[in-house]
Amino acid sequence: MDRKPGFDTLAVRAGQRRTEEREQSEPIFTTSSYVFQDAAEAAAVFSGEQPGNIYSRFTNPTVRTFEQRLAALEGGERCVATASGMSAILSCCMALLNSGDHIVSSRAIFGSITVLFNDHLARFGIETSYVPPSDLAAWEQAIRPNTRLLFVETPSNPTAEIADIEALAELAHAHGCLLVVDNCFCTPALQRPLTLGADVVIHSATKYIDGQGRAVGGAVIGRNEQMDKVFGFLRTAGPSMSPFNAWIFLKGLETLRLRMEAHSANALALAQWLEQLPQVERVYYSGLPSHPRHELAKRQQRAFGGVLAFDLKGGKEAAWRLIDSTEIISVTANLGDTKSTITHPATTTHGRLTPEARAEAGIGDGLVRIAVGLEDLSDIKADLERGL
Ligand SMILES: *Cc1c(COP(=O)(O)O)cnc(C)c1O
Repeated sequence: MDRKPGFDTLAVRAGQRRTEEREQSEPIFTTSSYVFQDAAEAAAVFSGEQPGNIYSRFTNPTVRTFEQRLAALEGGERCVATASGMSAILSCCMALLNSGDHIVSSRAIFGSITVLFNDHLARFGIETSYVPPSDLAAWEQAIRPNTRLLFVETPSNPTAEIADIEALAELAHAHGCLLVVDNCFCTPALQRPLTLGADVVIHSATKYIDGQGRAVGGAVIGRNEQMDKVFGFLRTAGPSMSPFNAWIFLKGLETLRLRMEAHSANALALAQWLEQLPQVERVYYSGLPSHPRHELAKRQQRAFGGVLAFDLKGGKEAAWRLIDSTEIISVTANLGDTKSTITHPATTTHGRLTPEARAEAGIGDGLVRIAVGLEDLSDIKADLERGL
């Protein structure tokens, strides 16, 4: 067969190997180790001469199926599944960086990643500089001779800043660096950074890949050259994904595109509605023509995702009143769930930042973030109307 299967076919079929039981759905291999026919076979598998499973810290058939399926969807040579999104970025840094190396990162990234860079990698002599994600000149100025890695998340959380992946990849390669993209908010259903020139994609599978708030996991995807190193770290250090979680994420991948399109449609309609309300100062969503980088978002994404934010004119008081008057929308900082969630970034996800850093990142006291779920749009609106 020389036809290349499409995204939707890969999403439900890639990586599946049936056992002799001929199951239709992928089995969960809950085994910690594997047996060999004899001592010679054990020696051959241990030495790497013969392929085979040894121990589920680093090889498990359910996890492998998930890895192969996600690699196919992102268009990468290899995927390494990890215990969480945080262990995906940790494994990536431990495998690809040395003491004395430097990272240039977008300042608008997931909060725990900033803490990982500043409080932990720094102790091992890896320094990080931060730049506004959409300011290409600032990225270039921040690059030093020892810079090895550019790190970006786009669209950013919570203010939907858009970075130009193609331009950043070009810049990274001109300086001998790798571009790592956190593709959590779009997923490969909406944006495929590797096809735009990025070297590595990381995921928190906890978010849209699961999509139903059940399990914590992560993944790193890229070329064999880098992924073999990431796998080498994971194999030894052990931040591995459990087979049960891998099975949940496999099932999540099968409906990922349908869910991402539904999340995006609900979020776009909600953003348009919010934008014309007198109580709302400004809406942050890359799907709105009023977004300063709407054209770029349209070029590099298939749709605009489920997360939006907006400034309320009444500041913190108005934001808290809105949050406290919801009856359907869940008050939680999590996102990427069928259930809509609402949060006040200034006092939750970004509460650890200094007031200056918050202001610089555009996170005001009246800012509210909603990760729009799959409920009826009319119910989501009615739930918000009460507090507005
Ligand atoms: C949640 C999240 C992470 C971290 O993932 P965990 O699975 O919680 O460890 C990383 N990046 C982004 C954008 C996230 O939203």
